[in-house]
Amino acid sequence: MIPFLDLKAPYLELKQELDEAIARVVSSGWFIGGGEVDQFEAEYATYCGAAHAVGVANGLDALHLALRAMAVGPGDEVIVPSNTYIATWLAVSQCGAMPVPVEPDARTFNINPALIEAAITPRTKVILPVHLYGQPADMDPILSIARKHGLRVLEDGAQAHGARYKGQRLGAHGDAVTWSFYPGKNLGAMGDGGAVTTNDPQIADRIRVLRNYGSRVKYVNEMQGYNSRLDPLQAAILRVKLAHLDAWNARRTDVAQRYQQGLANCGLTLPYVLDWAEPVWHLYVVQHPQRDALQQALTDAGVGTLIHYPIPPHLQRAYAHANRAQGSFPLAERMADDVLSLPMGPAMFGPDITHVMQSVRTALSKIENQ
Ligand SMILES: *Cc1c(COP(=O)(O)O)cnc(C)c1O
Repeated sequence: MIPFLDLKAPYLELKQELDEAIARVVSSGWFIGGGEVDQFEAEYATYCGAAHAVGVANGLDALHLALRAMAVGPGDEVIVPSNTYIATWLAVSQCGAMPVPVEPDARTFNINPALIEAAITPRTKVILPVHLYGQPADMDPILSIARKHGLRVLEDGAQAHGARYKGQRLGAHGDAVTWSFYPGKNLGAMGDGGAVTTNDPQIADRIRVLRNYGSRVKYVNEMQGYNSRLDPLQAAILRVKLAHLDAWNARRTDVAQRYQQGLANCGLTLPYVLDWAEPVWHLYVVQHPQRDALQQALTDAGVGTLIHYPIPPHLQRAYAHANRAQGSFPLAERMADDVLSLPMGPAMFGPDITHVMQSVRTALSKIENQ
């Protein structure tokens, strides 16, 4: 049996360091804010090459608070990918603003910069690309469109810790980048966590106030804020894991390279990597027109897979009020029908990879002979 992702393996690999970090926080008696959070923020900002990192409770809040810090509100529009996890859209809606979807580049799954300008209106405030599946979005054209139209750029980096665009790590290409430390992400906590990185001191400052009840000085509230903090226990765990992130991303890259070679020319559409992209392989996503049959055959063979994502946001009941019909975003819809994520993670080694590839080939020949 090969699980889609083994979440216990990273703990067992770093057990002693993690146990010590947890014990340090527990015995300190300090459970909100404080030195562990400050130090994680400093270390993560340095890692991302950004001036500031602000810890928050999760990746959705990171998006929501970053948009609030950019003064997004009712009546505003934010350009989002049609093909993303729904959190990207929900954060816009939580501000009372409207998500305006733009279709992806069919090769990379990421927002197609050539389609962005047609979606800009006088209400547009922010362009919100997502670095989906760990592949950096094409930032240069996005930034120049934003400059031309006076828009902000917020990047959703929840799946791309450590990825590089044209040699530079994600973290401060746009006005801000949001991060999730959900356990299954490349940098994962033992619970929920999130952060925003930015070079803009005003954005960082606003998020620091917003995450803490709108308060800078205890019991003095300068705005109606939220309770959205990264707690010291998670920060201490993340500090241990951050030191291993590059090594773990390198292992994911090894797995991806073996898949790219071993699954070439077998009838699957494999991930496409542009020459300026250094992805971190949060997910290894293939496409096949008979995706459901392929997934069933792999399940029968003991290989765990997942679908990211089975229903695009515009067809979710949560967005039924926007009346976007089936067929309105055909690329996102086709991806929902065809994509399959193969097992991927830092704890996958040779025999597992070989087993997955053999199972895929066997499953595909079964499907062809049906
Ligand atoms: C995971 C994820 C989020 C949300 O992060 P949470 O920590 O689960 O709130 C946002 N955007 C994308 C693209 C994600 O994958």
